[in-house]
Amino acid sequence: MENRKTILILTTGGTIAGKGVPGDITGYTPGAVTAGDLLGGLTVPSGVSLETVEVCSKNSDDIDCGDWHKLLTELRSGMERSDIAGMVVLHGTDTMEETAFLLSLTLEVKKPVVITGSMRPSTAISADGPLNIKNAMTLALCEKAARCGVLVTMDGGVYTAHGVTKRASYGSDAFEDEFYTPGRIFDDEVYLDFPDAGEPVFKDLDLSFPLPGVPVVYFTAGSDPKLLSLAAGISGGLVIAGAGAGEYSEGFGKVIEELSIPVVISSRTGRSYITEKMLLSERTVPAGALSPVKAAILLRLAIHAGYDAQGIRELFESGHGTAFNH
Ligand code: ASP
Repeated sequence: MENRKTILILTTGGTIAGKGVPGDITGYTPGAVTAGDLLGGLTVPSGVSLETVEVCSKNSDDIDCGDWHKLLTELRSGMERSDIAGMVVLHGTDTMEETAFLLSLTLEVKKPVVITGSMRPSTAISADGPLNIKNAMTLALCEKAARCGVLVTMDGGVYTAHGVTKRASYGSDAFEDEFYTPGRIFDDEVYLDFPDAGEPVFKDLDLSFPLPGVPVVYFTAGSDPKLLSLAAGISGGLVIAGAGAGEYSEGFGKVIEELSIPVVISSRTGRSYITEKMLLSERTVPAGALSPVKAAILLRLAIHAGYDAQGIRELFESGHGTAFNH
C-alpha cells in the first residue's frame, strides 16, 4: 500500500489570502480568501495530502500573542504526528520575520517548518502566492531542511528565521537574509547552505500568557527623551534602535540611567553589530547583530521566561538564543 505523506498547512491570513479588484495589485483586503480557494488550483505532489488548519485570518500587523500561542501549539502537536512530513505556515509578509524568529526560539524542529506569504493578493495579475506555496510544499517535503530550523521562502529564495527581513514594501523579491546567502528552490530541487539550527532556548516555554510589551524606540536627531519614559511606563523592557553603532543623545542617556527595566541597544542602520564596548551605558545590553525587531522578540521571550538582568545579558551575548552564532 502506498505510504501517503501529509503536509499540514496552517493559515493566518495576509496578502496571500488577499482579495481585491481582479487584476489590481493594491487596495485589497488581506485574509479574505479561504485555504480551500487558495490551495484548490495547486498541483500537489503525488502521494501527498494536504491538511489545513486556520489559526487566524488577519493582516499580519494584527498578529498577537494569542495567535502565536495557537500557531505554536499546532506546530508542536504536528511535530509529534508520524503522518505529517512537514508543515507550512501561510502568513502576511509585514511581520513574517517576527513570527519566524519567535518560532525558531520556541519550537523544536524535527521536521521541516516553512513560512511563506505573498506580496500580491490572490486576485492580482501575476499573483506570487501560488509559486510561493508550491515552493513551501517542496521545502516541507525536503527532510534535510529540518536541520536548518524554521525557514521562510519567498520568490524562490529560502531564508533563515534568524536572518530573514522584509526590505521592500513592494515587489515579489522584497525579502533578504541578513546573515546568509539565501537558499534557492528550482522547481523540485532545493539548495540550502545554512548551519544547523540546534536546540531552541525556549523550547518548553508556555506562550498561553501574553508576552510582555517591548517597544522599539527609534532614535532620531532631536527626538524627545520623554518618549523613552512614556514607552517604559507601559513596557516590560525597551529596545532602542540607536543611530550608527547604537548611539543616542545625552538626553536619551539620562533617561536610560533612570529606568529600571531591561534596555537593549540595537542599531537603526540595518547592518551592524553592537557589542559591549560600543555601549554608552553599562546598564544596557548589546543586541549583537540582531535587528531591533528581532531583539524585541528575544527580550519579550526572555522576560516572559523569568530571566533576570544578568540572564538577559548572557542570553544576548551568548549568540542571541540561536545556534546560528559561532
Ligand atoms: N499587510 C499584509 C500583511 O502583512 C502584507 C502582506 O501580507 O504582504 O498581512
